[in-house]
Amino acid sequence: MKLDEKKFTKDFVSEVKATYAIDVKDSSPLEQLMALGNLIKRYDSSNWKNTSKKYRQKDDKQVYYFSIEFLPGRLLKSNLLNLGILDTVRAGLSELGLDFEKICRSEPDPGLGNGGLGRLAACYMDSMASLGMAGNGNGIRYRYGLFKQVFMNGYQVELPDDWLRNGNVWEIRRENRACVVRFGGHVWLQPQADGHLRPVYDHTDDVLAVPYDVGIVGYHNGVTNTMRLWSAELPPSADQTFYSQAQRDRIDQITEVLYPDDSNAAGRSLRLRQEYFFSSAGVQSIVRHYLLDHSTLKEFPRKVAIHINDTHPTLVIPELMRILLDECDCPWEKAWQITTATMSYTNHTIMQEALETWPIDMFKGLLPRIYQIVQEIDRRYRQEKLPIFGENTVDKTAPLGNGQVRMAYLAVIGSHSVNGVAPLHTELLKKDVLMDLYRIYPERFNNKTNGIADRRWLQLANDPLSKLIDSKIGKDWRSNPKQIQTLSAFENDDKFLQDLEKVKIENKKNLSKYVKDELGITIGTDAIYDVQIKRLHAYKRQLLHVFEIIREYLDIKDHPQKKVIPRVHIFGAKAAPSYHYAKSVIKLINALADLVNSDKDIGNKIKVVFIPNYGVSLGELIIPAADISEQISTASKEASGTSNMKLMTNGALSLATMDGANIDIVRAAGKENEYTFGLTADDVYGYYRRGDYHSSDFANKNPELQRILNTLIDGTIPGISTEGHEIYDSLIRYNDEYFVLADYAEYVQKQKQISQDFTNRKQWEQRSLANIAASGTFSADYAVARYGEDIWQVPYDRILK
Ligand SMILES: *Cc1c(COP(=O)(O)O)cnc(C)c1O
Repeated sequence: MKLDEKKFTKDFVSEVKATYAIDVKDSSPLEQLMALGNLIKRYDSSNWKNTSKKYRQKDDKQVYYFSIEFLPGRLLKSNLLNLGILDTVRAGLSELGLDFEKICRSEPDPGLGNGGLGRLAACYMDSMASLGMAGNGNGIRYRYGLFKQVFMNGYQVELPDDWLRNGNVWEIRRENRACVVRFGGHVWLQPQADGHLRPVYDHTDDVLAVPYDVGIVGYHNGVTNTMRLWSAELPPSADQTFYSQAQRDRIDQITEVLYPDDSNAAGRSLRLRQEYFFSSAGVQSIVRHYLLDHSTLKEFPRKVAIHINDTHPTLVIPELMRILLDECDCPWEKAWQITTATMSYTNHTIMQEALETWPIDMFKGLLPRIYQIVQEIDRRYRQEKLPIFGENTVDKTAPLGNGQVRMAYLAVIGSHSVNGVAPLHTELLKKDVLMDLYRIYPERFNNKTNGIADRRWLQLANDPLSKLIDSKIGKDWRSNPKQIQTLSAFENDDKFLQDLEKVKIENKKNLSKYVKDELGITIGTDAIYDVQIKRLHAYKRQLLHVFEIIREYLDIKDHPQKKVIPRVHIFGAKAAPSYHYAKSVIKLINALADLVNSDKDIGNKIKVVFIPNYGVSLGELIIPAADISEQISTASKEASGTSNMKLMTNGALSLATMDGANIDIVRAAGKENEYTFGLTADDVYGYYRRGDYHSSDFANKNPELQRILNTLIDGTIPGISTEGHEIYDSLIRYNDEYFVLADYAEYVQKQKQISQDFTNRKQWEQRSLANIAASGTFSADYAVARYGEDIWQVPYDRILK
C-alpha cells in the first residue's frame, strides 16, 4: 500500500488521542502498540474485505488449514513488512521521538503452540496469503498460551502465559458467526415419515463457539486472508436456563489453556473436547459459508479443501459426515465420497507413543453421535477391505480396535491424501508406522517437505543480511526466494565475504546485549555461536551437546595453556511440565552453565547460555547470530525439523545427523558445507531388528566418554545428584534409547573439526554463503504451492515454474 510519512504521523497522533485521550508524548509503548495496531488494521481493512469478496465472486476453491496449534509470533513488523510500509512507519515513529523496537517488544508473542507443528501452521498461513491462495486457518483461541518458562535454582518453573491480558489488537470478534457445539447427552435415531432416520438428542451440554478472526497479510499483493480462532462460551440462555458454576467452568475450560505437550497423546477428556470443539465449529462454519453461494453439495470438494495438520483435528471427518447425513439428508455413500474427496492429512511423527488414540468409553460418552458415525465408518471399512486384505491386516488398521479410537487410522481412511514432511519421514511412514495402510491405499501417500516463511525468518529477523543481499542481487528474491541462489556468484568476492562476516558480528552483538541484560553473562563476538534451539526431548539429544561441553571443559582444565577457539553454547528449550526426564536435562544444562561460566580457568573460552522461555521472538533474535546449527536427533526420529532451515538461511552451518530434512539441507547446500555424523536411519532400524545395541560397550571402549559419564555422578558438576544419576542410568542401565553413546565419538570429532575450520575465515564465510544461497528452496511458499498443486487442487503454478 501507499503511505507517506506525513500522513502516517498525523494518523498515528490522532489515533493515540482518540483511543486513550492523551498526547503521544504521554503514551506508553503498549498504548503506542495498540494505537498502531488499530491504525494498521484500518489501513488493511479494505484489502481484507475485498479479498473475501473476490474469493466469493470468483468462486475460488477455499483451503481450510485445521491445526490445534498456531505459533504466529508477533505480528506488528510482519504486517508492516507485508504491507510495504515498514520503513515509512519506522521513520515516522522515529520522527515523533518514539522507539520502534520498544513498541514491537511490547506486543505479546502468542504462544498458541508448542513448537514446530504450530510454527509450521503459521508459516503456511503467511505463504498462502503471499501466494494469493484462498487459505484460511482454523484453530483455538487459548486464553492462556504455552507456559512462560523461568529457571529457579536451575529448574524449570512454569508460569501462566497471560497473553490476552491487554486484549489482542489484531483480532475481530464475530459473535454473529458463532455456532453451537454439542457434547454428551443421549442420542437415538428416530424414523421419519419417509423412512429416514434422524438423530434426536437430549441432555446435551451445549457450548457456544465464538470465532475471533485475525487478518493474515500477504506480501505486497493486497491480499489479506483469515485465521479463525474459536473461543468457548456459554450459549445464550434460553428462557429458564440457568447455568451452574460447574457448568460454566466446564465450558470455560475448553479454550482455557494449550496442552503443553506435542509429543505424547494427552490422554485426557478435556483434550478430546478441545479437538471436537474446534473441528465441529470449523466445519459448521465452512458448510454454512459454502451454502451461501451453492445450492447443492455435489460441488463441495471442488470448492472446499480441508487439511488436517496432525491428528488433532481428525474429527472433522465424522463431523462433516454428521452434517451431511443429519442436516443435509445425504445418503451415506454420497456423504462419504464428498468427505474423503475434501479431506487431506499431514502426519508429523513416526514415534508410536505419539500416535493419538482415545478410549472408546470416553469417546462415546463425550461424543455419542460422532461415535455412531465412526462405528459405521469402521464397519464399512472392515466389510470392504476384509475380502481383499484379510482379517489380520484389517484388524490392525481399522479406526476402532483394542478399545480405542485410532485417530491416525481414521485420518488416513477418511482422506484422499496422506503426507509426510520430509522424504525420509514419508518413506518411514510407508515402511513402518503406517505400513499396512500404505498397502491398502498406496496412491494416497505422498511427501511434502516442510518449509519456512523466509519473510519472517530472513527478511524480518535479519535485516542487515537482507539489505546486504539486496545490494548484490536486487530485491526479487524477497518474493521469489529461490533467487537467492544467484548470490553464490559472489563466492570469491572478498569484500562481500567480509561484509557477510560483519553482518554476523552485528547480529552477535545484538544477541550478546540481550544475554548480558537478561542473564548477566558476557559473551564475546569472536566466539563460535553454537546453537541448539527446540523443544527439550530425549530424541533431540540435547544431551549429546552437553557431553561436548563437558569434554571441552575437562580438556581446558587438563590443559590450561592450550589455545582454544572460544565457544558460546546457546540453548533454548521448554520441557513439557510432565516430562520428568526432559526437566532433569534442563537442570543439568543449567548446573553445567553455572560451573563453566564461573570457572576462572575457563574464562571466555567456553560460555554456556541457556536462554529461558524460548519462542518465536527469541528465535528471531538468536538465529541470525548462529554459526553452528545443532540438528542432532537420533536418525529416523525427527520427522523434518524446521529450525534447521531457519538457521541455514541465516548462514549457520549444520552439525547434523542424517535425519528429517537435514538430509535435504545437506544435499542442497553440499556435504562439504555442513558437518554430518552418526548412525543413519537404516543403522538404527538394524539395531532394532537385531536387538544388539549395548550402550555400555561404547562407554567401555572409550575412556573419554566414560569419564564424561562419570561427571554426571561423581560430583564434578555440583547440584545434580539426583538428575545426574537418573540420566546416567538412562544411558547405561536402561541402554540409551536414543543412541547417544553410539554417536558420541563421531559427533565430537566433528566438533573438533569445526573449531579448526572456524579460523579459516574466508572459507567459513564461503560455506556460510553456500547455505544461504541454497536455502531458498526451503521457503514455505514452494511447500504451500506443492500442497496446492498435488493435494488441495488449487493449482498455483506461478511460483513452481
Ligand atoms: C521453528 C520452531 C520450532 C521447531 O524447531 P525444531 O528444531 O525443528 O524442532 C520450535 N519452536 C519455535 C518457537 C520455532 O520457531
